[in-house]
Amino acid sequence: MSGVHEPETFDFQAEVKQLLHLMINSLYSNKEIFLRELISNASDANDKLRFEALEAPGLLEEQPDLEINITMDVEKSVLTVTDSGIGMSREEIIDQLGTIAHSGTANFLEGLSGEAKKDSQLIGQFGVGFYSVFIVAERVEVLSRRAGLPASEGVLWTSSGDGSYKIETVDKPERGTVITLTLKPEEAEFLEAFRLEALIRKYSDHIAFPVRLKSVGHEDDAGEPLNRAKALWARLRTEIEDEEYIEFYKHIAHDFTDPLIWSHNRVEGRREYTSLIYVPAVAPIDLWNRETPRGVKLYVQRVFITDEATQFLPLYLRFVRGVIDSSDLSLNISRESLQQDPTVSSIKSALTKRSLNMLDKLARADGDKYKTFWREFGATLKEGLAEDPGNREKLAELLRFNSTRSEDLDQDRSLDGYIDAAGDGQNTIYYLTAESPVSARNSPHLESLREREIEVLLLSDRIDEWVMQHLTEFKGKVFKDITRGDLSLGDREVSEKVEAELTKEQKQALKRVKRVLRERVDEVRMSDRLKESAVCLVLGEQDLGYQMRELLKATGHDAPEIAPSLELNPNHPLVQRLVRENKDQKFEDLSWVLLEQATLIEGQPLADPASFARRVNTLIIDEKLVKE
Ligand code: ADP
Repeated sequence: MSGVHEPETFDFQAEVKQLLHLMINSLYSNKEIFLRELISNASDANDKLRFEALEAPGLLEEQPDLEINITMDVEKSVLTVTDSGIGMSREEIIDQLGTIAHSGTANFLEGLSGEAKKDSQLIGQFGVGFYSVFIVAERVEVLSRRAGLPASEGVLWTSSGDGSYKIETVDKPERGTVITLTLKPEEAEFLEAFRLEALIRKYSDHIAFPVRLKSVGHEDDAGEPLNRAKALWARLRTEIEDEEYIEFYKHIAHDFTDPLIWSHNRVEGRREYTSLIYVPAVAPIDLWNRETPRGVKLYVQRVFITDEATQFLPLYLRFVRGVIDSSDLSLNISRESLQQDPTVSSIKSALTKRSLNMLDKLARADGDKYKTFWREFGATLKEGLAEDPGNREKLAELLRFNSTRSEDLDQDRSLDGYIDAAGDGQNTIYYLTAESPVSARNSPHLESLREREIEVLLLSDRIDEWVMQHLTEFKGKVFKDITRGDLSLGDREVSEKVEAELTKEQKQALKRVKRVLRERVDEVRMSDRLKESAVCLVLGEQDLGYQMRELLKATGHDAPEIAPSLELNPNHPLVQRLVRENKDQKFEDLSWVLLEQATLIEGQPLADPASFARRVNTLIIDEKLVKE
């Protein structure tokens, strides 16, 4: 930045102000985490410098050591955190500490529950860790110089967290960043050497750079680092405490919540790499945005390469976070060549299996945690049935459904559980897809199965129809969508009996209904599915379903109209009334109302709602249900 030397004051972006406020309130009970966030950022900055120095060794300047130093000044109530990392230029500091680039911010702010605990779980994912300094500090200075820029282009950012910040261009001989916190008077506990030391140990033991605590005036004493300064994943599994795994997760995932489970493996032999992968407990707000940054952190022989190596896991496992450290890849591998590298594809297939096994282990070990997993990521995992045929059986074992045997709307039934309960005699797994959990549960299609005490899986995620096209069989049992085709439940006699027992009037009525509704339905018949309801719509086995039609339309494709069959319950009073009706207009109105209610039951919009209302009103008035 040439020429700009006057201090300038800027307002924080409006979202930053909101988040600052929220942060201070929701994280107050856990305020010590500001230290974790600063150490984590310092470590990232050192990592980035080392990476850029692979191509431009000049960036290391006269200062090849990468470290993190924390200094305390009790008299002035000041803590500083210094790194020798990549630093920030003037533009970068404005960009990174004054705005939030995250695409999901607006959604996030709208979706806030006002419940401090819940909100604070999500807040970490916004890359706002730095702002946690304002929980404990009344004034914060960030003095930084981007590696490679001259000493005269240091930048000093100052703020009290009250809506604005000041920027000055200053001299800074050493590369990297110094963050100076002037603590609020009530936060003096962070200046007690004993407490501070314990916190630094906790938050830095998994960090790969030496972290030292110094007293003001003794900054030049080398001293022993408080941490091991060794990459966590490079240590032996048996020597790592759970707490360390958890802290490491929070560092790499920028998440404030503990992960559900992790898996740490070293692979030796033809390929050599270490992986440490985690399943988070909370889904990021933009999990469904396919553009969202994701992927694992890639290291090559301990040198950080990228935060978003997407090539190591399939899209449906995009929620998995972690680190890969490969000894086989080259240090100057580019993103493009990662795509084609055979080492990468072999790691990808091993890591996919490892992720699925980790989920399987979670499901067996801790039902409650698996429930959390399924709630947050179940719909994402399901995409794998379509995307990863090679792992379909394993994925199918991990599925959970709501079912007619579930006590509430939770998805807690596994396919193995279904098969066990059904017993050997049943070779079919029955399911239905509906617009919502409630409409699935109340669907008329369930009536005859309920009577025979046959369990039905109730699916209502918006991708379920698409997913189920790819799942036709599980452990020798076939899937059957009960809203389609024949539902004689293996007992052909039932439907034949219905057919054979039709009276002449009933047969005639069916023909008349078909004539009235000919443009909208394929067939009209008496039903063996229905026990209580008057009507339902049935699709052909190969017909496009309602959800698939919506999906096609949403992605700009042509979607043909659906012409289902209409089934009538011969024992329902309204249907009996229809059969007896001999006035043409009334017969037509009744036919339409039956079709329209069947459409509504499927959760589908009516083509002409006003006419529906008019017909219902006429019928009610004619029946003298309304006093004139
Ligand atoms: P996150 O680290 O989750 O991205 P933060 O709010 O902690 O979010 O930091 C915002 C950004 O500011 C970082 O992504 C990084 O680019 C920059 N930053 C923060 N601290 C440092 C530092 N010590 N050195 C260099 N850049 C930093």
